[in-house]
Amino acid sequence: MKYYSTNHNSPNADFKEATIKGQAPDKGLYFPQSIPALPADLIKNINQHSKEEIAYQVIAPYVGDTIPENELRRIVSETVNFDIPLVNINDGIYSLELYHGPTLAFKDTGARFMSRCLGYFVKGQDRKVTVLVATSGDTGGAVANGFYDVDGVDVVILYPSGKVSSVQEKQLTTLGKNIHALEVNGTFDDCQQMVKQVFTDEEINKQIFLTSANSINVARWLPQQFYYFFAYQQWLNSPLGHGGNPPVISVPSGNFGNICAGILAHVSGLPVQHFIAACNANDVVPAFMKTQQYEPKKAIATISNAMDVGNPSNFVRILEIFDNQFVNLQKVLSSDSITDDETRDTIKSVYQKNSYLLDPHGAVGYLALQRYLKEHPGQNGIVLETAHPVKFYDVVEPVINQSVPVPASVQQQMSAQKKSIKIEADSNLLKDFLYSMQ
Ligand SMILES: *Cc1c(COP(=O)(O)O)cnc(C)c1O
Repeated sequence: MKYYSTNHNSPNADFKEATIKGQAPDKGLYFPQSIPALPADLIKNINQHSKEEIAYQVIAPYVGDTIPENELRRIVSETVNFDIPLVNINDGIYSLELYHGPTLAFKDTGARFMSRCLGYFVKGQDRKVTVLVATSGDTGGAVANGFYDVDGVDVVILYPSGKVSSVQEKQLTTLGKNIHALEVNGTFDDCQQMVKQVFTDEEINKQIFLTSANSINVARWLPQQFYYFFAYQQWLNSPLGHGGNPPVISVPSGNFGNICAGILAHVSGLPVQHFIAACNANDVVPAFMKTQQYEPKKAIATISNAMDVGNPSNFVRILEIFDNQFVNLQKVLSSDSITDDETRDTIKSVYQKNSYLLDPHGAVGYLALQRYLKEHPGQNGIVLETAHPVKFYDVVEPVINQSVPVPASVQQQMSAQKKSIKIEADSNLLKDFLYSMQ
């Protein structure tokens, strides 16, 4: 499989090159030259396949011959090595809990896969690789955890000071070793801008082997398809999926990597009724679906902060899947914007009525799904629960008027000491830091 750049001004790359480079030299995103059709048997007899086997079959065409089969099977097994249960909330809605990985967020899947692929690719190289990543919250922790102590890899994480939750901050500032946290005086968009500028700076790229671990990296983006298949497998075994009716899937969306992976899986053959991109007040895509005008905005801070993105990078990939044909996109995707007040009300009412505790991101997804189902009687759906509610206890606890039990792994981390380096939102300062590490 080869990947081309969405800006059409870079040489094509294979999976290894696309993983190492992150972004194409012309600043486009790598996109597969063709979307593979999955073996019919995989879908038809999905119940007879293990998680590991499904994940391997889904990813193998994208990896091609850049990783041998036995290594890829090992990487995939380690990637999906935690529970991803489909849990019933009420009559029409299930929750796919993507938060049982080591940092309690769905990003663990992509980060675990990518770190292992990159670890494989840099083995035996004489140059260190520096993974540079901007985070609005959850990416940092998942990437830090995935790469922690991986030989030959340094990780530099930029996060907006005061705009991530305390659990998130601990997850990215307490590991140490090869993990470096830069606390930026600015927003997530500032962090992303700094990272983008460094990646396009020829001088520094000559001297330092830099790569990105943001969701634009194909090795993070593509494995996110896995759990859509695990969802479908469990859906078929549930009362709602028994008739074979595919689910509507609602995905809390920020940078749109997760939902783009789901749509890719669907185009490869996974039955899905419809996708909903559930957004908070950052409504660039909901507005686009109404007006067909794509107008990036400054990010607005909300209580679902991992989705505070004003210019979602992966949306161009969604357009690419549909050859930029809006009519086709519209058949598969709807989008909705949910306010913070509605998010809080949703957490509260679902907790009271269904004894199910949503985190703020899952709540955005839930309400968008519920609204859609109301307008489409006879359909049922799945909301992707992208983070454990405890990661956002400062939002959730006052709403339900109860404390959220903290898992043991988090308790340990909360008492560890934060180590961050403060920095102004200036890409020159970031460059200085990267040079100083060499
Ligand atoms: C990152 C994140 C999202 C947004 O995912 P995208 O792939 O960027 O759209 C949603 N919820 C949580 C909890 C996240 O960490």
